[in-house]
Amino acid sequence: VHPTAVRRPYSIVVNSEKTTYTDEFITAKYDNRGANVISSADGQISIIPTIKSYEFRTARKVQKTGLMMIGIGGNNGSTLCATILANRHNISWRTKEGVQTPNYIGSLLRASTVRIGTDPTTGKDVHVPVSDVLPMVHPNDLVLGGWDISGVPMDQAMYRAKVLDWDLQRQVAPMMALMGKPLPSIYYPTFIAANQSARADNLIPGDNKQAHLDQIRADIRNFKEENELDRVVVFWTANTERYSDIITGVNDTADNLLASIKNSHDEVSPSTLFAVAAILEGSPFVNGAPQNTFVPGVIELAERHRGFIGGDDLKSGQTKLKSVLAEFLVNAGIKPLSIASYNHLGNNDGHNLSAEAQFKSKEISKSSVVDDMVESNRLLYKPDASPDNSGDKKTKHSKGEHPDHIIVIKYVPAVGDSKRALDEYYSEILMGGRSTINIFNECEDSLLATPLILDLTILTEVLTRIQYREVDGQNTEFKPLYSVLSLLSYMLKAPLVKPGTDVVNSLSRQRNGLEQFLKACIGLEAHGDMLLETRIW
Ligand code: NAD
Repeated sequence: VHPTAVRRPYSIVVNSEKTTYTDEFITAKYDNRGANVISSADGQISIIPTIKSYEFRTARKVQKTGLMMIGIGGNNGSTLCATILANRHNISWRTKEGVQTPNYIGSLLRASTVRIGTDPTTGKDVHVPVSDVLPMVHPNDLVLGGWDISGVPMDQAMYRAKVLDWDLQRQVAPMMALMGKPLPSIYYPTFIAANQSARADNLIPGDNKQAHLDQIRADIRNFKEENELDRVVVFWTANTERYSDIITGVNDTADNLLASIKNSHDEVSPSTLFAVAAILEGSPFVNGAPQNTFVPGVIELAERHRGFIGGDDLKSGQTKLKSVLAEFLVNAGIKPLSIASYNHLGNNDGHNLSAEAQFKSKEISKSSVVDDMVESNRLLYKPDASPDNSGDKKTKHSKGEHPDHIIVIKYVPAVGDSKRALDEYYSEILMGGRSTINIFNECEDSLLATPLILDLTILTEVLTRIQYREVDGQNTEFKPLYSVLSLLSYMLKAPLVKPGTDVVNSLSRQRNGLEQFLKACIGLEAHGDMLLETRIW
């Protein structure tokens, strides 16, 4: 089943003194422009433009990459495997609409484009697939593996998920069967809903957390060796866990966390254990679910090992739309007074989320999404003078006035993977008027989530190949990017960012940030929307 790595040609050349190419690297100079703003007590605002020069260096050789999913036997995991197999083997299938061919629709990297400049002969914009900007892994080339507490073989897991059309399942099943059973995993019952216990039949024995950590580390190492991989991305697409309590002396520092694993402390969750295993094995770890896997001790451990982590929670449907709509309203000078979101779904994720503690994790992750929009417009929302030093996602919401925001999720088995999301945006408009926007969204959840897992994995691999250095500074060594990969934010509901920096939830800002970064790595300026040539004579 596993592919031999296919190297696809990389065809972009930037002809500029800022960009240099060797067989090994693409190196590009980049001027980071900003502005320091000083506001005085009398309301005067003084702005000093700033500029700092950097160099980005991208290793050109795409690494042979493995994706190890925790929860591979779930709806997302099995759908992702079947999708890659169908694409890799070019399997078409019949639906009632006709013949369907495989694709990667919904992937920002494979199915969306970026504007790289203008054709001088026609004056028209030129767009290329985002995946062409830098050398990237093709999803067909990912080597797949992972763990699940359910020992159902992968073909059966795909049947159980009931996501893909039968005629596709039928054809891909023999290849899925070759993947066998997921690796045994760890199950600490208090972290996921009690209704999941019947699935837990494929477990690493015992209750010693250090032994569990060692086994998972060995699994990652073996997978890497057996498949001759350069890089393994470890991805949590297992059930949503409850929040872990942050306890001083237990998970607040890297050393305390490692000691707590040694002592099998109750508050170390399976997802945190997997994150620690990945970091210690030099593998990036991405959290596709909402729980606080990244307790402070994990972040410190990642920093210490120069590891890479990204999360939290895949931003697939309702939240993606919310981060667009809330931004549209607030940027239009309209004031959302309340946002009420209802969901119902009938897959196993919905079943797990029907338990209070797991729902709570999802609620926190879904709630934070309008905070930065509200924060950015204190004309509409009154600020609060009191400082918020909590720094804790669990309690943190925007300071000062903000819209009422409620989230409801209900489990309705009949609708299966086809999630329903209803949102009401109730806003204040001119002279005390009111506007109500209602959205009803119906979609197969796993078909939205799968391309996000691919994008996150492939981008993460790229980001491990990019290094930077300050051009004018003392330090001339190239360094890896900071451990928390906030450039992944576009695909994540509650983006984890460098501690002390602001979260950007706006979808357009997240996308611009990513586009600009990828372009900067080949020495291209961010193309804004000034379009000067269309405004002047
Ligand atoms: P799912 O319930 O179908 O799959 C989860 C799998 O994880 C199951 O097979 C389960 O047996 C396994 N599992 C649970 N605990 C485990 C552990 N400790 N180790 C290994 N395996 C374990 O759910 P899904 O629909 O595939 O969603 C997966 C996750 O992604 C959920 O947390 C969900 O909230 C999150 N998510 C999904 C979407 C989406 O659109 N589908 C969007 C955002 C987030």
